[in-house]
Amino acid sequence: MARIFCIANQKGGVGKTTTTVNLAAGLGRIGQRVLVVDLDPQGNATMGSGIDKRALELTVYDVLLESASIAEARRRSDKAGYDVLGANRELAGAEVELVELERRDKRLKAAIAAVGDEYDFVLIDCPPSLSLLTLNGLCSAHGVIVPMQCEYFALEGLSDLVNTIKQVHANLNPDLQIIGLLRVMYDPRITLQQQVSEQLKSHFGDKVFNTVIPRNVRLAEAPSYGLPGVVFDPASKGAQAFIDFAQEMVERIKTL
Ligand code: ADP
Ligand code: MG
Repeated sequence: MARIFCIANQKGGVGKTTTTVNLAAGLGRIGQRVLVVDLDPQGNATMGSGIDKRALELTVYDVLLESASIAEARRRSDKAGYDVLGANRELAGAEVELVELERRDKRLKAAIAAVGDEYDFVLIDCPPSLSLLTLNGLCSAHGVIVPMQCEYFALEGLSDLVNTIKQVHANLNPDLQIIGLLRVMYDPRITLQQQVSEQLKSHFGDKVFNTVIPRNVRLAEAPSYGLPGVVFDPASKGAQAFIDFAQEMVERIKTL
């Protein structure tokens, strides 16, 4: 059965999507079978994997409303090296439609279970909110990967997410745990970032991944080519860091 992880942080622009597609591509390179689930109506993980969100007939929206299975709605990205359950703007409506429905927070979980033995990893790219969409992600997952920038308010922003994860763990999904905090867009020349990084380590201990993702322009350029950075420029510092991170995840799941 696949190990299922949410990439979540209720802040926008912190590197969730970049982490999702590059971890997926890194895992693909070392022979892991990966499904990326795009749970953000912006569809950035879909586009960043080389799949045109506007051309999709079936998306995660149809899966949540149970009018399609993942087997029907997924697409293979040969370039990126993994499968994608895509999203587009239509998904924004699911939030409202789901509220009315039964098992509204468990629908993604049921859908993933049906394809779970076809994958080693399922990575769910969450929207920048603690919404019903994110809840579907958290209810489906074994763990959460939290990308974060080492900025002044980083720790403060984390407490809402940590509380939500605790509540989901207690009430809805006893499997759920924080797998780790991933330091992203890191610039070691900035003293403040070093300090926050140290604070994170002293506060969260081995919940902080060893791998650090540097700020690297190649990672930012890659989405406009419809590719994860790991595929776009594998030799770049950013890509190398995500390849290391994929290896770290493979090791980490052995301990779960
Ligand atoms: P989120 O999904 O949390 O909103 P994104 O992954 O889309 O965040 O990242 C926000 C922006 O920062 C994007 O333009 C992305 O290309 C850029 N970015 C993310 N990680 C890096 C990095 N390590 N180095 C440089 N730019 C990055
Ligand atoms: Mg995103």
